Amino acid sequence: MPVEFNLEALTRNNIRQLSPYSCARDEFKGRAAEVFLDANENPYNSSFNRYPDPLQEQLKAQLAPLKGVGEKQIFLGNGSDEAIDLVYRVFCEPRIDNVVAIAPTYGMYKVCADINDVEYRAIPLTEDFQLDADALLAATDNNTKVIWICSPNNPTGNSLDANAIKRVLTEFGGIVVVDEAYSDFSNKQPFRTQLATYPNLIVLNTFSKLWASAAIRLGMAFASEDIIALFNKVKYPYNVNLLTQQKAMDLLTDIPRINNWRAIILRERAQMLPSFAELPTCLKVFPTDANFFLARMTDANRIYQYLVGKGIIVRNRSRVKLCEDCLRITIGTPQENNALLAAMRQYK
Ligand SMILES: *Cc1c(COP(=O)(O)O)cnc(C)c1O
Repeated sequence: MPVEFNLEALTRNNIRQLSPYSCARDEFKGRAAEVFLDANENPYNSSFNRYPDPLQEQLKAQLAPLKGVGEKQIFLGNGSDEAIDLVYRVFCEPRIDNVVAIAPTYGMYKVCADINDVEYRAIPLTEDFQLDADALLAATDNNTKVIWICSPNNPTGNSLDANAIKRVLTEFGGIVVVDEAYSDFSNKQPFRTQLATYPNLIVLNTFSKLWASAAIRLGMAFASEDIIALFNKVKYPYNVNLLTQQKAMDLLTDIPRINNWRAIILRERAQMLPSFAELPTCLKVFPTDANFFLARMTDANRIYQYLVGKGIIVRNRSRVKLCEDCLRITIGTPQENNALLAAMRQYK
């Protein structure tokens, strides 16, 4: 059954009551001005002397049509990591509230839970890495504020069943975060297009993967205007620096370049998966909708060390539950992918 969603009741009291920091640029807005003596900036060293736009409005105006969301439905932060941390700081009362998440998944959800002193309930995926909506919902109680879902999931690479995610969104009365860091590599419909249907949905995207800009640290969250307003209230006033905002806007002027990266990476992925599966040391390549794949090997630890010796670094996920003897391998350039295959073919 659909459950009532009450954002105000979900928000921590101190956040609901917070008077946010009011910066000089917030107080003065609108009319054109030439003399700025309001923020104790140094008048020299233009254009780095001025505080950047705290709400990154120019960049959001470029992003909104591209992502099919409203400008006020976008939060930008210092990587997705900032949005993940803000979810805890806005909704979870330390030592009282809890969150539920799939397992295995991206490690930052748990690290941020630990830092914020919030209980983290990890619910295993099924054997084929699918979402068990019943188990996820059964793990919630009155103090569960957030459910973490990642699709396509890291480290497994697969997309989770959309209907199972929709069930969680409908039947859970708290916040559901769907991390779509890798949805650009999938042909499934992304959940960020469903914001109007689900008032409790937060979708995460990032500049770090398809957009090839991990170094500038820029993550995105999409949600209702009310949820984004809460994020804006709590974030550091100037959380995205000018250099990052400019680099992102430069990047977005050349969308064909980004689409070309996607085409190359998808083509390489299509070639890599069967070639890797043919290796005598590879027991299974799991289905992927991301720019990486998970492979079960005869002896992942030994193969990992062997590849390090050859100067090739992959991710050893052997110690992760359900990922025993698995390596996670990113799709690189054709040359890099061939170097990996050549090294693996020499492995004894
Ligand atoms: C890589 C990745 C991110 C990106 O994090 P940033 O802080 O934006 O670099 C987010 N979520 C998942 C699941 C990832 O694998």
